[in-house]
Amino acid sequence: MRPLDWAIPPGLKEAANPIASCRISGLMAKRCSHFKLIQKVSPNTNGCEECLKTGDRWVHLRMCLICGHVGCCDSSKGKHATKHFHATQHPVMRSIEPADDWGWCYVDELQFDVA
Ligand SMILES: [Zn+2]
Ligand SMILES: [Zn+2]
Ligand SMILES: [Zn+2]
Repeated sequence: MRPLDWAIPPGLKEAANPIASCRISGLMAKRCSHFKLIQKVSPNTNGCEECLKTGDRWVHLRMCLICGHVGCCDSSKGKHATKHFHATQHPVMRSIEPADDWGWCYVDELQFDVA
């Protein structure tokens, strides 16, 4: 299964450390050093920034938690969220699908809860 499509493991719901707008599990805080990079961002665009430019379609949307870039998931043709990480080295993003409340660190490959 691709990491970006993981369901949230039940244990991660428990612990809560308020950092920026995110609730990060204790497990995550120990293993990921990138929370301090997280900013209070809102989405820069109303959809995947690159796909909007090219007229492409996306499957799910992910938002960079450092700069607010919106990109599409790895199930989408463009994979622009992952490309944004490689281009900018911004390692933490979250899903901005209405039903999703999880984030992801590309470097540590860890999932966390967001409020
Ligand atoms: Zn990390
Ligand atoms: Zn895209
Ligand atoms: Zn970014």
